[in-house]
Amino acid sequence: MNRVGMTGRNLVRRTGLWLGLGVGVGALGVLAAPVSVEVGLAVRDVSPELPIRLAGYAGRQQPADRAEHPLLVQALALRNPTGERFVFVALDNCEVSGEFMAPVLQQCRERYQLPRGAVAVVSSHTHSAPVLESTLTDMTQPTTPEREQIVRYSRRLQQELVAVVGAALETFEPATLEHGLGRATFAMNRRVYRGDQVVFGDNPDGPVDWDVPVLRIRRPDGAVRAIVFGYACHGTSVRGGEDWHVVSGEYMAYARQHLEAMHPGAVALYLTGMGADIDPAPRGRLLDARRHGLQLAGAVLGVLDRPMRPVRGGFRMAYDEVELPFVPPPGRDRLEADARSADVHVRQRAEAYLKRMDAGQPVPRAVRLPVAVVRVGEDLTFLLAGGEVVVDYARRWKRLLAQDHPWPVGYAYEVPCYIPSVRLLKEGGYEADSSFIYYGFYGPFDASIEDRLVDGVSALVSGLRGP
Ligand SMILES: [Zn+2]
Repeated sequence: MNRVGMTGRNLVRRTGLWLGLGVGVGALGVLAAPVSVEVGLAVRDVSPELPIRLAGYAGRQQPADRAEHPLLVQALALRNPTGERFVFVALDNCEVSGEFMAPVLQQCRERYQLPRGAVAVVSSHTHSAPVLESTLTDMTQPTTPEREQIVRYSRRLQQELVAVVGAALETFEPATLEHGLGRATFAMNRRVYRGDQVVFGDNPDGPVDWDVPVLRIRRPDGAVRAIVFGYACHGTSVRGGEDWHVVSGEYMAYARQHLEAMHPGAVALYLTGMGADIDPAPRGRLLDARRHGLQLAGAVLGVLDRPMRPVRGGFRMAYDEVELPFVPPPGRDRLEADARSADVHVRQRAEAYLKRMDAGQPVPRAVRLPVAVVRVGEDLTFLLAGGEVVVDYARRWKRLLAQDHPWPVGYAYEVPCYIPSVRLLKEGGYEADSSFIYYGFYGPFDASIEDRLVDGVSALVSGLRGP
């Protein structure tokens, strides 16, 4: 287990001492400042030059030639009195691969001394942002000039990711944190059972996670500095039609705009939940994204308008990479047959495996999935996982770890593929099976996946509990 930046028992003891002092001094009529994290914030615009190809749909062939929102990267840095730091980076894009992130993390290590695990880029999973290099790039089959543009945008985005982290580290201020939960109901399970098939559609009986977690961050003078919010749903309100070729941050960006309009001077920052088998309903046009954004912002404002739960103390964090094995890969006969497939994606996956075999290299047998727990005092526990994590995990962790006030965050660090539950492995369908064609793996995962992931994250949480 590879833990990074864990606060030892010293801080916990010191926190207790400070709080004890606070009570004593408070009784004499002097307010003592509680020990708390400091917060740094920075935002940069990463809107692309147009036209540019957008990520997320294999069927979308044309580049986007119009933009509805600026695309942003927003960094929220936490710092303990001991000097430890952790940075959330909210990114307006579909996702990033480990390969894409490697140079960014290296720069963060070299320039800012932030170890692996201490910078979590969380992709919003908008399906209306540019295709990135080595991140499902072939899903969209770009032409050579389009590919060059993808590389140019990727380089710029990598630089901006490093820069936004550095900028946030320059702006630490004392902060008061409060947490609350709202509810929005536009998330719809998208797995529909037809005979022995699972197809895309609206399944109102399927599991969802309608929670809207909210974290309010205030300055010492009481002004709201940031509103962090989340939801577990794909950024796929726009699908087909003329809006399909428009750059946008999807419903999350509309929500952000509403919140910032209601709280001038505050930064609204979205952390994507675990809803990889969930789509917004209804879907189709930007108008649908706008209505979902309004509903989400309304849920957040409802939380902000009522008393919220204080989140006190410094933070502790633990990072790990959980190995999730696939079933054994297919033999050469199947790969050679796939390499002759009429489907270009099936063909490319097989060719990549055959190339590795011919070069004497091993084919992928497992995914090492980044996971982390960031616990603020005893009041709030972020659970972060890479990949497109399906909603069963969020629901299970919320049940198992209810006392820890869990806030599940998916699409964190990097996205190697979908992360299905055992239920989905048994049922099959896109998230368990066919999506792996685009991700370039032969699945499915071994049925041990759910226990490995649930136990791995739960172990990190237990290690951070209490004094
Ligand atoms: Zn997805």
